Amino acid sequence: MYEFAVTPAVTQLRRPGVIITDVSEGSVGDEIDLQAGDRIVRVNGRPVRDYLDFRFQTAGETALIFQVKKSNGETLDIEFDREEGEDLGLMFEQIVPRQCANECIFCFCKGNPEDARRSLFVRDEDIRLSFLYGNYTTLSSITEDEMNRIVEQRLSPQYVSVHATDLKTRAYLLGVDESRADIFDKLQRLLESGIEIHAQVVLCPGINDGPILEKTLRDLAAHYPKLISTAIVPVALTRYNTDDRLTSVTPEFCRRTIQQVERFQKEFRKTLGTTFAFLGDEIYIKAGARIPSRRHYGNYPQIEDGVGMVRSFVDKFERLLTSRSVESRDFLLRGQRSERTHAAAIRTASIRDAQRPVLPGDSFFGTILTGEMFAPILRDQVDRYNAVSGASLSVLPVPNTYFAGDVAVAGLLTGKDLLAIRDHIVGEFVVVPRVTIKSDEPIFLDGMLYEDLKRQFPVPVYDLDTAEFIDLLRNKKASQATRHS
Ligand code: SF4
Repeated sequence: MYEFAVTPAVTQLRRPGVIITDVSEGSVGDEIDLQAGDRIVRVNGRPVRDYLDFRFQTAGETALIFQVKKSNGETLDIEFDREEGEDLGLMFEQIVPRQCANECIFCFCKGNPEDARRSLFVRDEDIRLSFLYGNYTTLSSITEDEMNRIVEQRLSPQYVSVHATDLKTRAYLLGVDESRADIFDKLQRLLESGIEIHAQVVLCPGINDGPILEKTLRDLAAHYPKLISTAIVPVALTRYNTDDRLTSVTPEFCRRTIQQVERFQKEFRKTLGTTFAFLGDEIYIKAGARIPSRRHYGNYPQIEDGVGMVRSFVDKFERLLTSRSVESRDFLLRGQRSERTHAAAIRTASIRDAQRPVLPGDSFFGTILTGEMFAPILRDQVDRYNAVSGASLSVLPVPNTYFAGDVAVAGLLTGKDLLAIRDHIVGEFVVVPRVTIKSDEPIFLDGMLYEDLKRQFPVPVYDLDTAEFIDLLRNKKASQATRHS
């Protein structure tokens, strides 16, 4: 029924075996003479398609037989034992994403410029990546094998882009016919099999808002607690995605949406004991509304989808500002603004992870780059930090000219965007959001290499994620407090 979904990526998903990319020295894998390039085809007689299969087939097993295809074409059966829970010391190739068969009207992959990073063209619709990384799938072209696999291997939770439970609207948004858009039975089957689901709605003004959104939230909430949460995030138009069926998300639209969804959130908290339907941070920021409290977000079930990131950041920052406050305030009362050029360094050793970068030794005078959306919030916090620590950090919003349109989040900034504002930086170093760089390769979304960017900046460039950034400030503050106590 879903043959159309058998794209080249799907074919790769079915190739036999998983390739080893590295073997730790002295590990069990090393002892049985496995090498990078070997392909494990079967474990205890059961076929292996990818890393997840391998993990599933080996879990809890101490007596193992690997059927291995060596790079010279030879096939070996390797029988061995290991201690319970002993690591095999093997690294594997990445999963090649299976791609979607939709034509969503808001698809970000449409019309990207040719120099964009290849991953921007990957229309990922992969239940394995959904389980591993929280990527959303639409389930519109899921195969019977994939359904069975989710259940058998307990690939739970799954993240599902629902967008609308009204079938006509969903089909319209996905650009597919109604029979493919209809996922009711599939959802039901997964939920009944004990698979937990987080849902997503990409909100498109005039299409799936208003009464359609109301129906969607009610339909989804009926499946709580197996269907754990729903994220409602605004559609983002870019200069490349100019589908004239879409309209921009305006501040007024955001205010209306907050009002509408707040009614449901109140009701859900009363009836379900959870907010259940969470609005993306962008909606509050665009509306100029207050970001909800920590309690609203519970355990932040959709934080990776930009839901609650701001609250989480601001709360962590508050804790930072109040930590070791007495010493720091004493220091401040002495009016030591010149401390920003003091010889006390921000040292890597003081950052939790030894792999994290070392800022230059003698100052804490620099510029933090971020997207236009988050910049006012970050600036507010950093100004307060400067006031209590004597640092001199500036926050510079970086316009997204590469994708343009409504795009103002840090995660979609490109190398070219960052380079374009280099004349405005102040201080002796620059921090760029780690999220702008591919996680497994030092490259930006526009294909620019991180090293090339660094070479073109007049001061050292450091990439930090939010936790590292806060750690850095905390350690600097603590080091100052110590010096002045
Ligand atoms: S599911 Fe839709 S938005 Fe996602 S990659 Fe496919 S076409 Fe694009």
